[in-house]
Amino acid sequence: MAIEKVGIVGAGQMGNGIAHVFALAGYDVLLNDISQDSIDKALKTVAKNLDRQVSKGKITEADKDAALGRIGTTLTLTDLGPCDLIIEAATEKEAVKHQIFKTLVPHLKPDTILASNTSSISITRLATGTDRPEKFMGVHFMNPVPVMQLVELIRGIATDEPTYQTMLAVVEKLGKTAASAEDFPAFIVNRVLIPMINEAVYVLYEGVGNVTSIDTALKLGANHPMGPLELADFIGLDTCLAIMNVLYDGLADSKYRPCPLLTKYVEAGWLGRKTGRGFYDYSGETPVPTR
Ligand code: NAD
Repeated sequence: MAIEKVGIVGAGQMGNGIAHVFALAGYDVLLNDISQDSIDKALKTVAKNLDRQVSKGKITEADKDAALGRIGTTLTLTDLGPCDLIIEAATEKEAVKHQIFKTLVPHLKPDTILASNTSSISITRLATGTDRPEKFMGVHFMNPVPVMQLVELIRGIATDEPTYQTMLAVVEKLGKTAASAEDFPAFIVNRVLIPMINEAVYVLYEGVGNVTSIDTALKLGANHPMGPLELADFIGLDTCLAIMNVLYDGLADSKYRPCPLLTKYVEAGWLGRKTGRGFYDYSGETPVPTR
């Protein structure tokens, strides 16, 4: 199926990056959010990140202008009805996502493919709430979207082959690489990555290391480009906690229990970079460890 017009629900960290890569690849993009502030911030971020690509010689000024010209915005979710593909990238809460799909369904064309960028929620369960489980998939971009090469493609139990093949072709057109995962909690990347981050928080909680020693140890000792706590702040501690809870509930194994310190940071509203404080304090020039 030909995909030309792409709707994106949620203009946060991920939604703006997804809008960026689709617009740059020549798709018409319609970006939706419930918050005008999020949309305004998203457009600023896309422009800034496109500028960075221009200054690195990766794209031309004309490519940038054309991409920005292809991004429309709306606060009205049902405006996305005429899109060929809709990617939901709203807050990682199942009820929020179900409500979005429920609202969209009566306004869709029969062939429209629905996708969720969820990090961890069951694709099969999200698909069940729509009229087209066979045209529903997980399309999991990595953060930051314009930089990261991988897209995980997750088939729900009912996803049909044409839908999967269409999305594989879309990922190729974006210049990215797909890895296929079955629909089990947190798929592949986060099934491995988030328990590692959670373990790093346990190491901090138990006093085995401090923020600096843990991040230095993993960067220099395991050749990770970012330390696990730095990465947790980057992903968002609320997102990390939500994913641990999905693993814990979905796999019913105590090895996935979230670290109480991670829960505490989220309760405090210390969610990482997006709130200016997490395992590091971002209020100054350089991030300062908080423990
Ligand atoms: P975010 O908090 O930065 O952005 C979420 C956006 O969704 C906000 O702008 C919010 O206003 C909007 N929103 C909430 N309810 C909405 C609704 N009903 N309709 C339209 N918009 C709505 O979150 P994020 O980090 O961009 O994450 C979005 C999704 O992407 C989540 O499912 C998350 O699990 C997934 N994801 C996140 C990462 C990451 O590293 N942050 C990586 C891969 C996937």
